[in-house]
Amino acid sequence: MDYELVIIGAGVVGLAIAANLSKSKSVLVLERNPSFGMETSSRNSEVIHSGIYYPQNSLKARLCVESNKKIYAFLEKYNVPHRRIGKFIVASGKDEIPELERTFLNAKNNEVLGIQEFSSSKLKEIEPNVNCVAALWAPNTGILDSHSLMSALFSIAKEKGADFAFQHSFSKAEKKNNLFQIDIETKDNEKFSISSKFLINAAGLDCDTVASNCGIDCGKANYKLSYAKGHYFRIKASKNHLASHLIYPTPKKEFAGLGVHLTIDMAGGLKLGPDVQFLNNRTLDYSVPETKREEFFKVASTYLRGLEIEDLSPDQAGIRPKLQKQGEPTQDFIIQEESDKGLPGLINLIGIESPGLSSFLGIAKEVENIIYYL
Ligand SMILES: Cc1cc2nc3c(=O)[nH]c(=O)nc-3n(C[C@H](O)[C@H](O)[C@H](O)COP(=O)(O)OP(=O)(O)OC[C@H]3O[C@@H](n4cnc5c(N)ncnc54)[C@H](O)[C@@H]3O)c2cc1C
Repeated sequence: MDYELVIIGAGVVGLAIAANLSKSKSVLVLERNPSFGMETSSRNSEVIHSGIYYPQNSLKARLCVESNKKIYAFLEKYNVPHRRIGKFIVASGKDEIPELERTFLNAKNNEVLGIQEFSSSKLKEIEPNVNCVAALWAPNTGILDSHSLMSALFSIAKEKGADFAFQHSFSKAEKKNNLFQIDIETKDNEKFSISSKFLINAAGLDCDTVASNCGIDCGKANYKLSYAKGHYFRIKASKNHLASHLIYPTPKKEFAGLGVHLTIDMAGGLKLGPDVQFLNNRTLDYSVPETKREEFFKVASTYLRGLEIEDLSPDQAGIRPKLQKQGEPTQDFIIQEESDKGLPGLINLIGIESPGLSSFLGIAKEVENIIYYL
């Protein structure tokens, strides 16, 4: 056996699992890119969610709430820049109040720490440019620097002895004599195989392809992904005074995202996004069309005063690995050990969209627990 555990993917999820397990196991992380975190983990809102929206007892709710209790101590300990700035969810009209109340109840059921109702008059004192008739206040929502976080996880894993193979792509795996024989291809098209007892699929946007190349029937297992792109627009720096907290609209009942919201980055800059655009193909196109500016301006103007359309310029985009197709209800994360499909020791992490960044501690612990009981 070459390694006890091979992880496919060095995004925040693969890195967190490596950081957690490399003290007790020999670990290799395979990553097709030249470095860690070059896909979804560096193309998101960098918001530390507190677990408000997700269905009660879902993995998303449990892992996000669990992680939120521990994440700030972790970020402190490893000097990862972050701010617990809190977020307001605002109802811009009376018609949104029932959904805001439903969101509040859901957050209470999920045991989100500190969530509270907030009157519009009280909010006006804190955020005079925000337009609302009622709001929720989530004090434990925050922001972090995702690159520094991944850098910290990478260093922890390396210090504990994990090996990283960048520009090495996983091709396929087969179970032989109780071990996975894993075929790997380098960027120079060299091919070779290694063996491992456990195989963790943390391949983000390609997790379904990887699962299928391990012998899983993704159609039958419901692992097939849809891609949903999210664009961002930056607000010009002279308007940074418009808000000092994260501002989210009230979610729509069957939401595929949380609605175009206002986020603040670690440098104090304001950003709007992400929207949700389901893609017809799996090309990783991260362009942000200028033509979307008006749509973003319109949505943001429902809850933010003082914004002008010229204040917005295209920023980044990210792509969500979604288990739901367009128009379907939102799905939970899948974290599945595959003994029942004849592949003991294979753990697939499928559909790790938001709040995957916020939940990295809980996700890594979940994988550790699965391995412990095998
Ligand atoms: C627009 C947007 C906004 C978001 N906002 C937030 C937010 O504010 N807060 C939050 O908590 N979450 C947010 N998320 C979700 C969060 O970004 C993801 O849940 C998280 O980054 C997933 O991490 P990952 O490691 O699973 O995936 P990735 O970061 O995609 O990493 C997977 C890695 O696997 C590698 N890989 C794939 N196939 C292979 C192969 N065959 N061989 C080798 N390597 C391979 C890839 O190169 C990649 O590096 C957002 C996501 C998007 C798209």
